[in-house]
Amino acid sequence: MAGAAGVIIIGAGQAGLSAAAELRKRGFDDPITLIGDEPHPPYQRPPLSKGYLSGDLPRERLWLRPEAFYDAAEITLRLGERAAMIDRANASVVLTDGERLAYDRLILAAGGAARRPPIPGADHPSVAVLRTLDDADGLGAVLARAKRLAILGAGYIGLEVAASARKQGLEVTVLEAAERALARTASPVLSAWFGGLHRGRGVDLQVNAPVRRILAEPEISGVQLANGDVIAADAIVLATGLQPHTALAEAAGLACEDGVLVDAEARTEDERIFAVGDLARLPLKRYGRRVRLESVQNAIDQAKIAAAAICGASVAYDPVPWFWSDQYEIKLQIAGLIDGAARIVRRGDPEMGRFALFHLAEDGRLLACEAVDSAPEYMAAQRMIAKDVRPDPDRLRDPAVAMREFLS
Ligand code: FAD
Repeated sequence: MAGAAGVIIIGAGQAGLSAAAELRKRGFDDPITLIGDEPHPPYQRPPLSKGYLSGDLPRERLWLRPEAFYDAAEITLRLGERAAMIDRANASVVLTDGERLAYDRLILAAGGAARRPPIPGADHPSVAVLRTLDDADGLGAVLARAKRLAILGAGYIGLEVAASARKQGLEVTVLEAAERALARTASPVLSAWFGGLHRGRGVDLQVNAPVRRILAEPEISGVQLANGDVIAADAIVLATGLQPHTALAEAAGLACEDGVLVDAEARTEDERIFAVGDLARLPLKRYGRRVRLESVQNAIDQAKIAAAAICGASVAYDPVPWFWSDQYEIKLQIAGLIDGAARIVRRGDPEMGRFALFHLAEDGRLLACEAVDSAPEYMAAQRMIAKDVRPDPDRLRDPAVAMREFLS
């Protein structure tokens, strides 16, 4: 257990809140201070590119906990305040106004910022990014008056914004520098299917299309591609990835590598300091490497692991990562990590818009499943991966064989 200075958590997002709540759930009764530099109490980010952006989900549904929760749980929420320095020698955090807060244990849950690529014009104030609620409000206002939207980046956020903007009747072009959409996280088969989905809904999705400059002097008028083509647009969104907020940890001398390095208990090399959520790079034994996971699942589960360690209940974290994305009326669910697979087994029919791709290792173990509108396959796959199941590929591809049979 920690002593009377308690726990300070830097970052009042999904991971920071989950750590605070789990500490209280485990009976931790020293002070907990949750410091967040945004003005809002902890909220869900996933709807920002989906229901909230398209206007289907009201603002009050974004809050992760009602206001009364923080008082009742005696969690001191310091919003609109920023940690400027970690003083490890004196076990304290210094805020931007100079105030110093002592800690027994410190949890870094500072997430990251939307990355602005080094393209001329990318820092123009009218060029939107989407990470925070304020970003989403700004982008919502832009979409309400724009006619032609250009999105840089065909990752999940880029494609979800494309779907939301099409719903609102905008002309949408998505520009991706890589050779396919979702290149970083999805298999080529899935990329091709989502590419087809978006093109079928009227999105001009261009791959192998790096942007040379953003035309924004003084008003946004479009982008110029590396091949010289000009794409006209009156609104531009950068959906080009996340830059983890490692600066505080680096300045404090903690090891970082595109994320703060932690062990299976979410602990950094300083045993009093933990890092969780989008900010942390953690070891995954099952996949034999360190990864930084940008998902709600990881933000919650890893935060719980850190809280458990602080309460003296050591639990090693070796999750089956999972993630979802909603685009138009389609739900994509992914369990596990796809790279390292030796073969892919398909179940269901992509033409019908319902199918699952099972990624098997050389030794036949299931490593990952990409499921398009196929919840039973996805749910079974999560458990199969955790249990190192080696399914028979012929039975797996046969929809007549119930998924539960692979678990018995
Ligand atoms: P964050 O939510 O980024 O919280 C960190 C907080 O710390 C921020 O408020 C930040 O401002 C604050 N902070 C940073 N530095 C400081 C400082 N020095 N002092 C004080 N505060 C600081 N995941 C899914 O699984 N499925 C989805 O469909 C999905 N959709 C998404 C859609 C969008 C638009 C976005 C942006 C993310 C989406 N994600 C999705 C990812 C998911 O939301 C994140 O993985 C999760 O929110 C990470 O939580 P976190 O607490 O680690 O980081």
